Amino acid sequence: MTDFDVVVVGAGVTGLTIANRLHAAGRSVLVVEARDRVGGRLLTEDVEGVRLEVGGQWVSPDQTALLALIDELGLEMYARYRAGKSIYIGADGVRRTFEGEQFPVSDTTAAEMERLTKELDRLAAQMDPLVPWEHPDAEQLDRISFAAWLANQTDDAEARDNIGLYIGPAMLTKPAHSFSALSAVLMAASAGGFSHLVDADFILDRRVVGGLQRVPLSLADRLPAGTVHLGEAVTKVEWSEEGATVFTGRGSYRGRDVVMAVPPTLVNRVQYIPALPPVQAQMRQHISFGLVVKLHITYATPFWRDLGLSGTAFSPYALVHEAYDNTNEDIDGETRGTLVGFCSDVKADGILGLDAETRKQKVLECLAGYYGEQALHPVHYYESPWMADEWTVGAFGTSFDIGSLTRYGRHLRAAVGPLQFASSDIAGLGFQHVDGAIRMGEAVAARLLEA
Ligand code: FAD
Repeated sequence: MTDFDVVVVGAGVTGLTIANRLHAAGRSVLVVEARDRVGGRLLTEDVEGVRLEVGGQWVSPDQTALLALIDELGLEMYARYRAGKSIYIGADGVRRTFEGEQFPVSDTTAAEMERLTKELDRLAAQMDPLVPWEHPDAEQLDRISFAAWLANQTDDAEARDNIGLYIGPAMLTKPAHSFSALSAVLMAASAGGFSHLVDADFILDRRVVGGLQRVPLSLADRLPAGTVHLGEAVTKVEWSEEGATVFTGRGSYRGRDVVMAVPPTLVNRVQYIPALPPVQAQMRQHISFGLVVKLHITYATPFWRDLGLSGTAFSPYALVHEAYDNTNEDIDGETRGTLVGFCSDVKADGILGLDAETRKQKVLECLAGYYGEQALHPVHYYESPWMADEWTVGAFGTSFDIGSLTRYGRHLRAAVGPLQFASSDIAGLGFQHVDGAIRMGEAVAARLLEA
């Protein structure tokens, strides 16, 4: 058994940020990772000749921790393609094109959407996303689902469906009836306000040249050789006030401190001796991953651009509720065009029960509804498999069920003896995003360096 100042479990951005900061401060650190690669929910992969962002990919201007790290690592960025008109399919099933942020809905629906946006911005401005349970209306907002809250606010179904879309299918990737209004406000506050979530040009602003996985790959490269052990899942942690030992199939490693830099849902999969305090185990049973299928559809050319379309498409009523031009602008000589689309929560349940060919046909038919007949003829089709990956089991991130953010939230980041917990899922600013992973990593590293 080897001794370290700190053993970090998980080589996602959170774990690698912690390891980098501790190593730079002269601490001995080991990172133990279950997968045979680093990056966790970030994976830039060549799939049959097409480079795809299988996991996270976009960077927005509010994500200042991520922007600073990208700068520190010397990585470059480029803007998402967005020239041309966007598409919206409303409750009447009619396809309409539009420019700017405002969906082409009736004046009354537009006014209701604006009013709801202002109200959510107001609630988010009252919240410190690190402590959402301290919001003045926390108890009340946590007891009601976001869908019920929306129903109390307006009789306009299309306004509700669109506002619900920005946080339900598009962010928490759960149906709006299954998470609280307080969780919805947290999602908005963590991104600097609800208005940011409504603005695709803001929230999906830029991409990293070479792919966002270059962030964790570069972080791992800066650590001394041998610091990151790949393909070693931690199954057991023995701990006392003096330190902790993690056990994998290959060996055991002792740290004065151990950081579980894994999603909260995977914390409970490990055996702890002695067991974690009851509130810790209880709390994490009230947290679950959302479900979204990220779809990558590549065509011989980005044909939609010739039609004057940006590739951006939305409909809370369609199987693929949002889609964007995801062509790799950073690859010299790339002539193909790629669309990325998302199929979330109950709609994802529906397609995941189908065989692969039927599923693909349904997705392509949906895209044809947005972009026309040419969308039926891709040269490549791929579905990100996060929901079937045992080291994630869902996408994009995890969130509490109704009532649990106020009941358990304050225990989320509490250490247990020498055990620390960190991941983007328990971040304040940048919650469920790479920016939050970095913020959590920095915070835990600072806490360990102070001790
Ligand atoms: P993870 O990346 O999940 O890392 C945890 C690591 O722990 C993993 O490598 C896992 O293998 C390992 N692990 C788990 N259990 C064990 C164990 N027992 N022993 C050893 N190792 C273990 N964010 C954005 O900012 N922009 C986006 O555009 C965006 N899009 C996304 C799209 C998809 C499809 C997905 C899935 C996520 C997206 N995200 C996006 C979210 C972002 O990817 C995550 O918030 C972030 O990468 C999480 O980092 P993390 O280190 O906290 O967790």
